[in-house]
Amino acid sequence: MRILVVEDDNAMRMLLKRAVEKFGHECLVAEDGAQAWDIYQHTTINVVISDRVMPGMDGIELCRRIRETPQNGYTYFIFLSAMSERSDAFEGLQAGADDYLTKPFVPDDLRARLLVAARITELHRQLLEQQAELKRLNQELFEQGRRDPLTHLGNRLRLMEDLVVIIGQAERYDKRYCAVLCDVDHFKAYNDFYGHLAGDEVLQKVAQTIVKNCRNGDAAYRFGGEEFLLILPEQTEATAVIAAERLRKMIEALGLPHQAKTPPGVVTISVGVAALEPGDYKAPHLWLKRADDALYRAKRDGRNCVRRAGELV
Ligand code: GH3
Ligand code: MG
Ligand code: MG
Ligand code: MG
Repeated sequence: MRILVVEDDNAMRMLLKRAVEKFGHECLVAEDGAQAWDIYQHTTINVVISDRVMPGMDGIELCRRIRETPQNGYTYFIFLSAMSERSDAFEGLQAGADDYLTKPFVPDDLRARLLVAARITELHRQLLEQQAELKRLNQELFEQGRRDPLTHLGNRLRLMEDLVVIIGQAERYDKRYCAVLCDVDHFKAYNDFYGHLAGDEVLQKVAQTIVKNCRNGDAAYRFGGEEFLLILPEQTEATAVIAAERLRKMIEALGLPHQAKTPPGVVTISVGVAALEPGDYKAPHLWLKRADDALYRAKRDGRNCVRRAGELV
C-alpha cells in the first residue's frame, strides 16, 4: 500500500516511516496537515497515519477534508495521537477516521491495524471494479435493446425515442426532416424460393447498402420485417427523392438474383418519401403514414421505384 505519514515531530515521523517501510509499504511523509492535504490532492493514497495536534491544519481538519474529497479508491485513515481519552478517540472516528491509536507508538499495533487497512481498501477496490463493470453492462444492454440483431440498425424502440428528439428540433428550430420508407419487393416469394436464411442475408445486404448510402446525421432503422426507414435531416421531399433514387439504384446494382418473381430478375426495393409537416408534430404517425402511402403507390406503380407524398392525389 502507499501510506502517508503526517507528523510534525521529526523523530516520530522518521520512526513511523521506517516502521511502515519495514512492513513492506511505500511511505510518503508530511510535516503538517496542509502539506498532507497538498500531497493527497495529487497522489493516490491508500492509508493515512496522522497525528492530531499539528501547527496550521490539524489532523481532524485533514481527516474531514479527505472524507469530503474521496479519491478513486478508498483512503483508510488512522489517527496516532497523544490525545488518549475515550472522547478523543470518539472525535477522531466521528471526523471520519477508521481507527484511532494512541501514543506511545507500538510498532506491532500499527502492523496489525495495517492488515485491516489492506483488507478494507481491497474490498473497496473490488466494489469499484464491480460498479464499473455493472455500468458497462447496463450501457451494453441499453444499446442491445435498441438495435436490431440481424441488421444492427436501430429498432422501433430507438426510432420512437429519436422521433421525440426530431419533433422537438423541428418545432423549436424549424429544422426539416424527410422520411424515406423502403420495402423489399416480392420478398415473400424470395423466402419461399431461396429459404429464410438466404432471405436474412438479403436483409443484411440491403441494410449494409442503406448504411453506406447514409450521410452524417442520417438515421436508419429496421422498421418491420423487410421494411427500412431512413430519416434525413435538412431535406425537402424533392432532395430526399434524389437520395432515395440513388439508394434504389444501389440495391438493384447489388445484382442479388431473384428467380421467384415474374419476370425473374434481381432483388429491388420500392420507396415512399414524405416530408415532416407542422401538422405532424402532435401526431408523428401521420408523417410515417404518408411515407407508407407513397410506398404503397410505388408498389402499385410496378415496384422498384420511388414515390413521394406530395405528388399523391
Ligand atoms: P411486396 O413486393 O408487395 O412488398 O411483397 P412482399 O412479398 O415483399 O411483401 P409481404 O408483406 O407479403 O411479405 C413480406 C415477407 O417478408 C414475409 C416474411 O416472411 C418476410 N420477412 C419478414 N421478416 C423477415 C426476416 O427477418 N427474415 C426473412 N428471411 N424474411 C422476413
Ligand atoms: Mg503533534
Ligand atoms: Mg412489407
Ligand atoms: Mg415487401
